Amino acid sequence: MSGDDELDNLLKLVRLHNTWRGKECINLIASENVTSPLVDAVYFSDAMHRYAEGLPFKRFYQGTKYVDEIEDRVSRIFAELFKARYSDIRAVSGTIANATTFAALAKGGDEAAVIPLPGGAHVSHSKYGILGRLGLQPVEVPIIPEELGIDPEGAVKLIRERSPKIVVLGASVIIFHQPVKEISEAASEVGAKVIFDAAHILGLIAGQVYPNPLAEGADVITTSTHKTFPGPQGGAILTSSEEIYEKIAKIVFPVFVSNHHLHRLAALGVTALEMKKFGKSYAAQIVKNARKLAEELHSRGFKVLGEGRGFTETHQVLLDVKGDGGGARVAESLEEANIIVNKNILPWDKPSDIANPSGIRIGVQEVTRWGMSEGDMIEVAEFIYRVVKRRDDPNMVREDVIRFRKEFTRIHYTFDVDVKRAAEEIGSLLSR
Ligand SMILES: *Cc1c(COP(=O)(O)O)cnc(C)c1O
Repeated sequence: MSGDDELDNLLKLVRLHNTWRGKECINLIASENVTSPLVDAVYFSDAMHRYAEGLPFKRFYQGTKYVDEIEDRVSRIFAELFKARYSDIRAVSGTIANATTFAALAKGGDEAAVIPLPGGAHVSHSKYGILGRLGLQPVEVPIIPEELGIDPEGAVKLIRERSPKIVVLGASVIIFHQPVKEISEAASEVGAKVIFDAAHILGLIAGQVYPNPLAEGADVITTSTHKTFPGPQGGAILTSSEEIYEKIAKIVFPVFVSNHHLHRLAALGVTALEMKKFGKSYAAQIVKNARKLAEELHSRGFKVLGEGRGFTETHQVLLDVKGDGGGARVAESLEEANIIVNKNILPWDKPSDIANPSGIRIGVQEVTRWGMSEGDMIEVAEFIYRVVKRRDDPNMVREDVIRFRKEFTRIHYTFDVDVKRAAEEIGSLLSR
């Protein structure tokens, strides 16, 4: 095959991906989002070609004077948004933010109280992920299976009994507010530091529909910057403790990051300003949409978790689809209809269920950003119902999904600016 054919093939794949995932799917993956065109213009900058190791104004080589100022300002804007005294925005992912924080606050052999994976924890909090690889010993807090949530009394009891070095809260599957206050009080009695991993719900915290964990007693927030918080992919760490901040800053570089992907920083700053201005309405609409979608699915015969408590307080809706063929089968047939979700283990699944677990996890943050509101959730529920319950031909449903999706072409909750002009003015690579 000639080089030109290779190029054509590659470009074709990029086009297919962009059209399909960007324009023709209803994307309900709970960990994803879309950046605004303004953020894109800022992101595609010369800074993506550059290097800077260390902290602003204390770099290891030349050429960083503007990047230093950007990083310094964005760290401040980001910290202010979350009412933290310090932020470190150099971690290039949520996992790196966790690695850094675990390494800063505990050492090999120390115990870490964690939520079990079937209770919704992220793999980086487990023996399979970085927590385990750093030699920390996970001890699992009890959960309330039906709510995919922590059992508050059980967790407090465990923390008092074991005196772990750290407690890791936050989760990848999270439908209700976690009992951060009670747990932080117990942790502080035994001298344990509380790390709240806000990867999924950072945008909901920014929009003040989810309680700020720092205000409830957590010592540190670790996070991704691209799930409900609709920024460029990356990670960040927030704390109001000077002592903890200093430990963390010494570990990000040189341990887990060398260069920290500099074009991210200003783009993260613009997203933080979007959230400062539009975050409240954005986050409120997300929770309204999630509730509405849950109710509509429930009324169409789906088993929706959290029924006794209004289904959800976040962007997520969790379904038990064991009776509909299982999570893997359901996710595959929805994909055929251009509805993208992920299969998920639920607390009552057995190890033998891993390949086809009972759960489906749905997140409405991205469709909310595309401007969908409660009325649109009725349509989305109906599409899901047609594929999963009525077993319509997914190819037929796909036609309707594409038609429906084409009504949503503009990203909401961003500044009303002429992005083409802005891109030219700032010398964005998008306008070269
Ligand atoms: C997604 C996620 C992470 C990992 O974030 P990456 O940016 O993908 O490394 C960490 N913690 C939780 C709770 C997550 O959901």
